[in-house]
Amino acid sequence: METDGSGFSPKLLGPVLLDSSTIQKRVHELGSQITSDYKHKSPLLVGILKGASIFHSDLVRSILLDLSYDFMAVCSYGSSTASSGEVRILKDPDRGLEGKEVLLVEDIVDTGRTLHYLVQNLKAREPNSLKVVALLNKPSRREIDVELDYIGFDIPDEFVVGYGLDYDQHYRNLPDIHLLRENGAV
Ligand code: 5GP
Repeated sequence: METDGSGFSPKLLGPVLLDSSTIQKRVHELGSQITSDYKHKSPLLVGILKGASIFHSDLVRSILLDLSYDFMAVCSYGSSTASSGEVRILKDPDRGLEGKEVLLVEDIVDTGRTLHYLVQNLKAREPNSLKVVALLNKPSRREIDVELDYIGFDIPDEFVVGYGLDYDQHYRNLPDIHLLRENGAV
């Protein structure tokens, strides 16, 4: 990966797919929907580190309920742009999920392998309910059927970065979501 010496690699950044105001508007719509669906309940929003961290922090602030939140960290084996579906848990939620109304917050669902593993794993912890919210969904890439209860945006089969999503740990801090372009191609 070429860099400008600072570790940043501007040549790989492609055009904006979803700009920050479009993302914020949709996150607020999701927040309103979740607020209404979980009325009189206290959901636990479990964000998956690191990709979902920014989405998670915007989403929890748009939900007008007495909620709590936590994080899990997973790593999937594979290259930097393709997931193998073999998942390892690096961090569990701090407290047990038994009897809780759990809402899993994911950044992006691609083949569905990571989410499939996570859902099986979390169901075994006996929450009262388990739902999934994903900011981005690539339906054309699906290899395993997974149920998504809330989706921010369906996107085409393109690798994207920004708003928490990385390429080799770069670009997470960008407010917009961009396509990734190898060698600066547009
Ligand atoms: P899956 O197991 O569904 O194939 O992949 C899910 C994980 O792969 C995501 O949580 C994310 O870490 C990574 N991933 C899949 N597609 C993209 C993408 O377009 N951009 C980035 N930055 N990560 C992706």
